Amino acid sequence: MNDPDMRFHDLSRRPRRTLADAAVFISGTGTDVGKTVATSALLRALRQAGLAVQAVKPVQTGVEDAASQGDAACYARAVEDMPPGQLPPAATLHSFRLPASPHLAAAREGVRLTVAGLRRDIERHWRSLMAAHEGDAPCAVLLEGAGGLHVPFNEQEDTLDLMAVLAAPVIIVAYNGLGALNQVRLSLDAVRDRGLVTAGLVLMQPPDASHTADEATQAILADNESWLRARLEDEGIPLAVLPTVTLNEAGWERLAQAVRPVAQAVAALLRTPPNVTQALVRRDKKVLWHPYTSTIEPLPVFVAQRSHHNRLVLADGRELVDGMSSWWAAVHGYNHPRLLAALRAQAGRMPHVMFGGLTHAPAVELAERLLDMLPQGLARVFPADSGSVAVEVALKMALQYQQGIGQTQRTRFLTPRGGYHGDTTGAMSVCDPVTGMHSLFARMLPQQLFMERPRCRFDQPFDPASLDDARQKLAEHGHEVAAVILEPVVQGAGGMWFYHPDYLRGLAQLCREAGALLIFDEIATGFGRTGTLFAAERAGVTPDILCCGKALTGGVLTLAATVCTEQVADGICRGGNVFMHGPTYMGNPLACAVALASLRLLEEEDWRTRVQQLEQGLRQGLAPCAGLPGVADVRVLGGIGVVETTEAVPVALLQAFFVERGVWIRPFGRLIYLMPPYVTPPEDLARLCEAVGDAIRQGVHLSY
Ligand code: PMP
Repeated sequence: MNDPDMRFHDLSRRPRRTLADAAVFISGTGTDVGKTVATSALLRALRQAGLAVQAVKPVQTGVEDAASQGDAACYARAVEDMPPGQLPPAATLHSFRLPASPHLAAAREGVRLTVAGLRRDIERHWRSLMAAHEGDAPCAVLLEGAGGLHVPFNEQEDTLDLMAVLAAPVIIVAYNGLGALNQVRLSLDAVRDRGLVTAGLVLMQPPDASHTADEATQAILADNESWLRARLEDEGIPLAVLPTVTLNEAGWERLAQAVRPVAQAVAALLRTPPNVTQALVRRDKKVLWHPYTSTIEPLPVFVAQRSHHNRLVLADGRELVDGMSSWWAAVHGYNHPRLLAALRAQAGRMPHVMFGGLTHAPAVELAERLLDMLPQGLARVFPADSGSVAVEVALKMALQYQQGIGQTQRTRFLTPRGGYHGDTTGAMSVCDPVTGMHSLFARMLPQQLFMERPRCRFDQPFDPASLDDARQKLAEHGHEVAAVILEPVVQGAGGMWFYHPDYLRGLAQLCREAGALLIFDEIATGFGRTGTLFAAERAGVTPDILCCGKALTGGVLTLAATVCTEQVADGICRGGNVFMHGPTYMGNPLACAVALASLRLLEEEDWRTRVQQLEQGLRQGLAPCAGLPGVADVRVLGGIGVVETTEAVPVALLQAFFVERGVWIRPFGRLIYLMPPYVTPPEDLARLCEAVGDAIRQGVHLSY
């Protein structure tokens, strides 16, 4: 095989059957709406359509007698007269005596239900059905919830949370009566807001409605049905209306007929789950361009479909432990309910408004909170759209400041080698001149001044001589330097290099003496990642200007900020001047609201302990890599773990290896590195480290 990557590509294209492709979740608009009868009717109709399908009740409450089958007995009766096939009988996975919500009924019996536990049980049960069923087509399951969508399993998690991790299509069952329209709408909206698909609505008719109900009631019932039919048709959701019947063989047959419109839609989904992966990858290749890639020979991409906690779910169902926090951003993990709630609430109020001449609470509150968290002395927040833009803003601030105070000759920036500050023109000009993009853009980039990379390691005693080059460059060029810009303590994308904080103290002194401003780019290091809230704290230095971004919104939306001292702001604005920057989406309320929620969460959730635990786990987990062939260095700081190799690694090959191991790690250059979400459980952190260790032991980093 010419292309060694193909080994892994082929594996990643293998079609898979996952629970999400094989399950349908049935929930009600409330309790006692007829869900069990609807589920049983659907079971019968699907079997009649030739599908291997079984119904399962994950949690049943109100079961007096331990031998009783609860709802599972009803499922069994609905298909009693049909050939049994090889499928094991319908089952209840957890049952409790108290006829109440699962959280309460379980607690009464000393049990704590969790979404993760229920999901495991459902998956295990489905696998046992698959094993028993030997037909060609895989076996499907109908999962009947307990009550409505927000019925809790414990203090934090409810039925919708379980539905969201299962990611299966949903059937909503409603009782036709007064209030049905409202209840159905609320349920459909809640399902959609979780990114789930409603595959059908089943409307249960009250007993003998056509004979006994008065005229007004009959009118309401008829209107409900036609109203729903029209609205659901617009949304592409089939409706089935089920009469009340005597539950004998003939009755089940009538129900199976009545539920058919929904059963057909479900059968279509179960027979051919959409093969999103291959189609999307093909379409992607035609129209998209990914970061730092060629359109002619693009690096392979994987289709990400859903995310939760510290996991990414690919379109083929594979679930990966995330080791990247989506490039430093998703510190709280994915889909955090508090961040999503802030997003939805702000979207309902005002998604965006221009920032010129208008302000809003999310921006004001975010700026206040940010200033409380940042090193003392920073006073003004300028919201920016992304990290690179925040760096452009910082450079412009420094230039305008120097002009404002009459230092018009100060037009250049001094920066250490090995830095990375973004991909826009100004930011590129201060990236490392060799590994950055200077060679490509040299003709148009402003020519900046470069000094030696801070060479004193973080974990070794400080060497004062490491400041010599900075001292010399400032002595030679200090008069033309507007500012020194650098990433404090950790140089990120330029090499994941950790250097001694004392360097920053010395550099701050040199800048003061030279009349140059000091800019800290904390876009990667901010919000706890290195073990302090901002890396500047380790040096006890307040810069004149600080950029933050990435984790600011917890990985939900793009937002960054450039923050400066009052002195810098005054220098720019004195004499009636203004700062010349103002992007269209500046201070976007959605992004500010999410950032505010993210900062609150950070403070409440004890990020410090979590990052310390990450640091310990990374140290322990990556230590075995030291000294292995092709490994130059292993280093860990806070929630960042780095294995530096001696040669550039084969990115596509390693990436595919990691995906096969169930982890998401994207190496670059000579770096295989981890920076997992702060919420990563210890066992997942161990999995990430083991995957890195395995890759290196097997020499994947050396295979070309
Ligand atoms: N500065 C640093 C230190 C960064 O790590 C990055 C992003 N990797 C940027 C700036 C640019 O941020 P963005 O990608 O949001 O433009």
